[in-house]
Amino acid sequence: MNAKERIQELKSKINKANYEYYVSDNPSISDFEYDMMMAELIRLEEENPEYKTLDSPTLRVGGVALDKFRKVVHEKEMKSLSDLFSYEEVFSYLEGIEKITGKEEYSMELKIDGLAVSLKYEKGYLKEASTRGDGLVGEDITLNAKTINSVPLRLKEDIDVSVRGEIYLKKENFEKINEERKAQGEELFKNARNAAAGTIRQLDPKVVRKRGLDTFIYYLVDPEKYNIQTQSEALSFLKKLGFHVNPESKVVKNKKELIEYIEDIDQKRFSYSYDIDGVVMKYNYMKDYDKIGETAKYPKWATAYKFAPLEVKTKIRDIAFQVGRTGVITPVAILDPVNISGSTVSRATLNNEDYIISKDIRLNDTVYLRKAAEIIPEVVKVIKEERDESSLPFQMIKNCPKCGSPLIRREGEADWYCTNNLCDARRIEQLVHFAARDAYDIVGLGDKIVEFLYNEGFIHDISDIFNLKDYAEVLLTKEGFKERKVTSLIDSIEISKKNNLDRLLYGLGIKNVGKKVAKIICEKYRSIDEIMSLKEEDLSLISDIGDIIAKNVIDYFKDIKNIEEINKLKSSGLNMIYVSSKSEKESLFSGKTFVLTGTLKNYSREEAQKIIEDKGGKASSSVSSKTDYVLYGESAGSKLEKAKELNITLLTEEEFEEMIKE
Ligand SMILES: [Zn+2]
Repeated sequence: MNAKERIQELKSKINKANYEYYVSDNPSISDFEYDMMMAELIRLEEENPEYKTLDSPTLRVGGVALDKFRKVVHEKEMKSLSDLFSYEEVFSYLEGIEKITGKEEYSMELKIDGLAVSLKYEKGYLKEASTRGDGLVGEDITLNAKTINSVPLRLKEDIDVSVRGEIYLKKENFEKINEERKAQGEELFKNARNAAAGTIRQLDPKVVRKRGLDTFIYYLVDPEKYNIQTQSEALSFLKKLGFHVNPESKVVKNKKELIEYIEDIDQKRFSYSYDIDGVVMKYNYMKDYDKIGETAKYPKWATAYKFAPLEVKTKIRDIAFQVGRTGVITPVAILDPVNISGSTVSRATLNNEDYIISKDIRLNDTVYLRKAAEIIPEVVKVIKEERDESSLPFQMIKNCPKCGSPLIRREGEADWYCTNNLCDARRIEQLVHFAARDAYDIVGLGDKIVEFLYNEGFIHDISDIFNLKDYAEVLLTKEGFKERKVTSLIDSIEISKKNNLDRLLYGLGIKNVGKKVAKIICEKYRSIDEIMSLKEEDLSLISDIGDIIAKNVIDYFKDIKNIEEINKLKSSGLNMIYVSSKSEKESLFSGKTFVLTGTLKNYSREEAQKIIEDKGGKASSSVSSKTDYVLYGESAGSKLEKAKELNITLLTEEEFEEMIKE
């Protein structure tokens, strides 16, 4: 087979794989095979540029960045849809159409919360992609659209066609982007639609490619050219051409079916991997569109029913105050229970005194509550019209609700603190923090058990945890403490004593000393004795440690109670030495940087990372020329591609296991 034939073969295989993966959601080859074919195609096209065609999938990797977007005048105005918010409005809309056409058949579709895009194809090739803009003039985003895998570069038929649809980001990609932005200290995107809009307007297509946008196409311009009579036929036609068409659309033939569809989708709205904010109903028979007509802004033959926003009304019955391990006091609204996005909510955070005062939230107020997925419910607004005349402005408490100590608010901080180190509420939270997985990782010592052991007087300080074995007999007499539970708890406490020093330092709960800071300090000062004898200036020498952290650490170890506590931990046999992965020159992976990608069969990502670190290596999240190994599993993606480009040693899981066996 010559280069030209091979290029042709690779192209059609990759295009087929793309289609299966992104459009029909039914992949037949592994990501690895895909990556290999793509790498080969890139190489062959570089060697034989004369064979590179306009539908080559290598075009998707993104070309040169632009300085600005060209304006595009839409051939046919891109109108938006009118919104309906109640069933009454829906019924009156349907009756209006029925009066004109005598029919009530609709194509029902999801209203994807993304941004509209127009795609123009000539003889089957993607010619131009543009944003909606103001409906008349949009922006040319062709280069960016090419990086989106579900946008066909070449259709399955060599026809001229213009289509419209929605560009959106899957929720998981949105979360990933925000995680990365958070790590970089950049401002977070408010929601997936914002992130998609921000992404499509990136001037660098490579950035767009990385973000992983997707599309659903739902509108065919000039359907009569293709002899299409109904919207539902148009969707099938779009699908046949190779576009990503949302599978949830359905034809309904009467009002009852239409409302059932709305209710069904409303139930499922949070289960989709992308955001939707309603459903769209499109009158199915296109020949009647002219009769039904349009307004200046909207077509009348289609409309959107918007789901109720994620805010519900409820009443604040009480304001409680939670005490955290650092002593921070968090006001919490106790509410009349309400159902919001599928769960019952009876508490909502009020954040801090300033937040309450800025919104003038008061006891017995009627408020709007908001809850987004995985976000703590929050009071967003007070309905002041429904407030009782006798209501009084909120007053922050002056004493700790648990121990009664006076609270203090430091200058420049929004939070009030209980500074009593012996406060029960604080101590329980501290013990919970110590035993937590990312700190001292004592399996079986969760918050409920800690609270029980504390209240029963078994543990008061961290050091008491390590004496718990002396009370095993007594524990067995307590309800819910069966022999197996007690034994395994005692065992995991014993095992934990071998933990590395950074876990202990983090577990102590020194203010502002997080996991990373603890590790940085331990890397520099390798034993607890060394750390305890530090001076502020020693710590400030470490580049990642600021003055405030340094002062907190020094103050902590100046406190005689803390010194005594450390001495008790020492005599209980806890490891007080830091074993650095970096210093062991003789260890297997010392100085080597690993990147993990894909899913491993026998290890979770954290487990593999731990093995690498235990053997002196470092795990990094991105591939660069400094990477030594890329350990890849099932469904490895772009990192693998990059590693190959950079000629980095690739390890399968089996090869990795071989290495660590030696
Ligand atoms: Zn207190």
